[in-house]
Amino acid sequence: MAQAMTSPNTASSETLKSFNPRTGEVLREIPVTPLEEVPLAVERARKMAPEWGAIDPAGRARMMREVRYRINDRIDDIIETVSTECGKPRTEALAHDVLPVVMMLIYFEKIAAKALRPQKAGRVMGPVAGLKSHIEWRPFGVVGAITPWNYPMTNCFLAFAPALFAGNTVVIKPSEVTPACGELLRELLEPLPPSVATVIQGGGEVGAALVDAPCDKISFIGSPATGRRICEAAAKHLTPVVMELGGKDAALVLSDADLERAAAGIAWGAFFNAGQTCCSIERAYVVDSVADEFQDKLLSRVAEIKQGDEVGTLTFKRQFEIVDRHVSDAVAKGARIVAGGPGAGISNDNGSLWYAPTVLDNVTPEMDVLKEETFGPVLSITRVQDDDEAVRRANEDGVNLTASVWTGDSKKAERVGEKLRAGTVTSNLHGETAAAPWGPWGGVGESGYGRLNGELGLREFTVPTHVASAPLLSLGRLWWYPYDEPTQASLRGMVDVLSARDVATKVRAVRNVMTHSLAAMKKKF
Ligand code: NAD
Repeated sequence: MAQAMTSPNTASSETLKSFNPRTGEVLREIPVTPLEEVPLAVERARKMAPEWGAIDPAGRARMMREVRYRINDRIDDIIETVSTECGKPRTEALAHDVLPVVMMLIYFEKIAAKALRPQKAGRVMGPVAGLKSHIEWRPFGVVGAITPWNYPMTNCFLAFAPALFAGNTVVIKPSEVTPACGELLRELLEPLPPSVATVIQGGGEVGAALVDAPCDKISFIGSPATGRRICEAAAKHLTPVVMELGGKDAALVLSDADLERAAAGIAWGAFFNAGQTCCSIERAYVVDSVADEFQDKLLSRVAEIKQGDEVGTLTFKRQFEIVDRHVSDAVAKGARIVAGGPGAGISNDNGSLWYAPTVLDNVTPEMDVLKEETFGPVLSITRVQDDDEAVRRANEDGVNLTASVWTGDSKKAERVGEKLRAGTVTSNLHGETAAAPWGPWGGVGESGYGRLNGELGLREFTVPTHVASAPLLSLGRLWWYPYDEPTQASLRGMVDVLSARDVATKVRAVRNVMTHSLAAMKKKF
């Protein structure tokens, strides 16, 4: 346990190192939030929750808009900090850590009021039971958001922004691997009233203290291993959790695919953010008849990618070690490196973390690179006989957070897509849907449960509260005491009215209900 909780990037228990993975240089040290401060932050957030929750959704959206304007004002700082601390190209910091956040905030600003409007319910059976019902989408209170380092802005906002729009206050623990981004996030949230959104800093211990505070809901984005630990800790308080976990995404290249497009899209889908993306393509299953041609085109595309300008470094040492181990294991078990590999591309000095885009073929299911999430710039190509084998291998070899089908036939894309087990299924594109704020975002099986983004993502942070009333206040309820003969006869009659096979029985039952229920109701109060 102590081993698992040790933070990979901790300078000492009091500070976190902000590290530049392009140069190996330590940029600054950032104080860790003391453990005893964590429940106090949650307590302050809990005190503020009724006030924030009482603001109508349109009012909250107006306040969130100020955060969005602040992001616009600080755009250069965000690009600089994210790019430097993660080792990603500036274009990716802009495209993946600014634009999606702005789109997400605008989306929720626009839909929150309507999506959170009370919803009428019970049209089908409500009148039979004499109940008037509606559903209110009430906030939980305090949401604890625990997030990873790969998109230090987008993934944080993804985890907490819908919670704020839904009327919760939030305490956010960003990753200890990218603490300078966490500090910047704190500044971006300053336009909100105090204790509505609090950033705390630290590693697993601080995250565990947040879960144990306890919060009223946990929003977690990270690995399945940590997800399990958080579920166990949350179970102690029966705290509900939403789990956005890892993936080992598959792309299926079918015989009628536009191979030029598939090569371009799969090269990007595998290597953007140096493959450190929960929904990057790690496995390509290619139908045998087009496999040679696809591989040639893919390798030409990969050869054109400019390491540095278009593919950055890995973000921290542990990730580099996982990538290196997976490639070595695959090669030792018979895989062939057809692009990149250890030592290819920019060489590493003084602790820099470059790893060239790498393509493997001759890959088999017993290799780690096909079973476990690599989370790095490594794509394996597996030849399959036909579409059915592609589907089977995609579903069986590893878990899909998302999966894609590459084909020239849209009907076939639907047919094959229906058989893929994944939280998102796409055709002729891969990897961009996390940034589509209208699309419910989440996994299946080991890639997690619950949804962020979309209306479902907003409602994930609400308690759907059934508000019901008896419209005729002067009458009692048929199922109240006493349980006498007329009560029994009326209830029996109701079942027949609703569910008898033949009309004659139904008509008799209506008469029975009318006669007996009047007698029964007289004695109810
Ligand atoms: P991680 O699980 O190591 O850490 C995630 C967060 O959990 C960090 O903030 C960490 O400090 C915290 N943490 C660690 N131990 C904890 C504990 N015991 N209690 C509470 N918090 C604890 O993951 P990572 O390396 O930061 O991120 C990579 C993983 O995240 C990959 O598996 C990736 O696929 C996944 N991911 C998923 C999505 C998604 O949307 N599904 C998005 C991005 C990343």
